[in-house]
Amino acid sequence: MADGTESESRKLLGRLREAMASDEAGQARLDRITHLIADSMGTEVCSVYLFRDAETLELCATEGLKPESVHQTRMRLGEGLVGRVAKSGKVVNTPDAPSAKGFRYMPETGEERFSSFLGIPIQRLGEKLGVLVVQSRIAREFSADEVYALEVVAMVLAEMAELGAFVGEGAALSPLHQKSAMFRGGTGQEGAAEGHVWLHEPRVVVTNPIADDPHRELERLNEAIEELRVGVDRMLEMSQNGDKEQLQVLEAYRMFANSKGWMRRMEEDIARGLSAEAAVEKEQSQARARMEQVQDAYLRERLADLDDLSNRLLRILTGQGKQTGADLPVDPILVARNIGPGDLLEYGRSLKGIVLEEGSVGSHAAIVARALAIPLVVHAERITTEALNGDHILVDGDQGIVHLRPEDSVVSAFRDKIAMQADAQARYVSIRDKPAVTLDGHRINLVMNAGLMADLPSLTGSGAEGVGLFRTELQFLVRNQMPKRSELVALYARVLDAAQGKRVVFRTLDIGSDKVLPYMKPTDEPNPALGWRAIRVGLDKPGIMRMQLQALIRAANGRPLTIMFPFVAQAEEYRAARAEVDKTIERERILGHKLPETLEIGAMLETPSLAFAPQKFFDEVGFLSIGGNDLKQFFFAADRENERVRRRYDTLNCSFLTFIEKIVERCEESGTPLSFCGEDAGRPIEAVCLAAMGIRTLSMRPASIGPVKSLLLRTDLRQLREIISAERHKGVQSVRPAITEWFRQQG
Ligand code: PEP
Ligand code: MG
Repeated sequence: MADGTESESRKLLGRLREAMASDEAGQARLDRITHLIADSMGTEVCSVYLFRDAETLELCATEGLKPESVHQTRMRLGEGLVGRVAKSGKVVNTPDAPSAKGFRYMPETGEERFSSFLGIPIQRLGEKLGVLVVQSRIAREFSADEVYALEVVAMVLAEMAELGAFVGEGAALSPLHQKSAMFRGGTGQEGAAEGHVWLHEPRVVVTNPIADDPHRELERLNEAIEELRVGVDRMLEMSQNGDKEQLQVLEAYRMFANSKGWMRRMEEDIARGLSAEAAVEKEQSQARARMEQVQDAYLRERLADLDDLSNRLLRILTGQGKQTGADLPVDPILVARNIGPGDLLEYGRSLKGIVLEEGSVGSHAAIVARALAIPLVVHAERITTEALNGDHILVDGDQGIVHLRPEDSVVSAFRDKIAMQADAQARYVSIRDKPAVTLDGHRINLVMNAGLMADLPSLTGSGAEGVGLFRTELQFLVRNQMPKRSELVALYARVLDAAQGKRVVFRTLDIGSDKVLPYMKPTDEPNPALGWRAIRVGLDKPGIMRMQLQALIRAANGRPLTIMFPFVAQAEEYRAARAEVDKTIERERILGHKLPETLEIGAMLETPSLAFAPQKFFDEVGFLSIGGNDLKQFFFAADRENERVRRRYDTLNCSFLTFIEKIVERCEESGTPLSFCGEDAGRPIEAVCLAAMGIRTLSMRPASIGPVKSLLLRTDLRQLREIISAERHKGVQSVRPAITEWFRQQG
């Protein structure tokens, strides 16, 4: 195939297929393949390097280099030309290898005799498997046709590797998807779980990468593409009035489905001997490799769309649907690239854990996982490439770590951890109905944060004394369209029913920043966290706020009602919102609806400015709740969504605690009830320190109530306060070291 023509390509692929069908052991098969390729390409050398582990490549077979270097020559990812190809996922084609960037001389191979070098990554759907190299003595650059031909061969090798063609006796490669692997991601929801993988989108298996009738393959591809286009058009028609984001994705699908470039490349792959499905996968693999390099968020999303579309096409071609016939394991851990809130709610509590390749702490999937209290790890890169249905898997939501196919020692350490957590849970159940009274007699009110109906069973289970923060936006976020007023009335009424007279603080819609409604026109803001969000949207577009207030009043139907406005930065905003409530009450009265028996109206203190509002504001506001998540991000100017900075500043930083103390003092002076409802309220050490600063109501996720109560029962707040004061006096940055030491001494 020295010229790399299509017919030569097909001939080589035909010979590769014979090699694949032979009953040789893995190593012999790979040796034969390198010989075939060198012969067909007219080069003196053909070598296959495969990954030994994630960082090391090993020469596994060669034609032309010294045979004794096989399985001896190794290089690290990024090292030498081979390592460069593997790392970048890009072809290196040079007539003069020794002078090329990154060249590393490996005397044991005898490669110094060869001048030209062509290295092609062997990769499949984002999984890097190795590098295919041809070298020759004469200094020449390989033609575009030859490069293309070798890319097709590399694709076939990747498929063969996936099918296990190189394993077995004298194995060149250890079997794929069998080794243990660890993934470091981020915490989406705390908790630990052990179970078996359930892939939301199971992998498609291509069993026939090579085909000998290109016309037939082309026909199959065209038929499948047609089916795909019709399907996409139908989805587009159906969602014309719906979700804008979904429409955008479908438009992108249609664009790709009609893309001439995409079709042309797949046709060319087929002409060179690949089957239709292998051609789709080859283009998909290259798009995935590009996705890894691209930084631009928009482009990445479009590449992800292409990836989804390719999956659909593969499913049409192979007839492998999402339904693989496999049964959901008894202890399923869902593994997916991403998942929508609707799909996740459908799985519901049957899942023991969730691992996402994408996702984020604030994503809708994370919100639902939290509501269902299912341990979640986000950003577990490449997990969908590695995991197979049924694999044993451990999810550590506290650390954001996932162990796939773990070693026995890891399993036993992990089980110890789960057992310890179970013990602790049992202890928490025993104190569930006890009031949280500290050793020095302070009664702390522990309430919970909620947002979905799925949260409410926790109200009795956790021992929460009420709902200190009901995030109403979650209902808006998990849907594809704006909920109707009647739906909201029904929902809020069910929440109040479930609370059985316990106080529920309904926070009005807090959208904007990281919470973007799928059906609202996105606003392109330079800094959304400081932008048009929460009460600012509510006051500028009062229609939704009025609808929500009406729904709340009707749902209360004569019962007590508590409403809280988010993100109030100055008194005037609170007054304007309060005026909306008064107007709505008046309207509802005229319409003959029952009015709430009592009405409490409060505000969240999430910006430092509100802490310095005039005294009059503190006198008139019904209550205040510190939204520590936002307050902290503005106090320290550190974006809560930005992994680089979000953990940089400690809640137990002296300046922050002093600020909290000031807010407590102002509220005490005016008799304004105060609570704290950010995530820190649910962290035991932080919670007791907040209590020491004078906060008497803490609102947290239900699972935190036990641990927080348990520590409060063992704490003397007066002593704690003394330590904090002494530390502040010393001028330390954070009181954490001293407090941790104090608790350690107390046992
Ligand atoms: C907060 O900011 O602390 C808060 C409770 O609100 P959210 O996390 O919903 O912004
Ligand atoms: Mg907030």
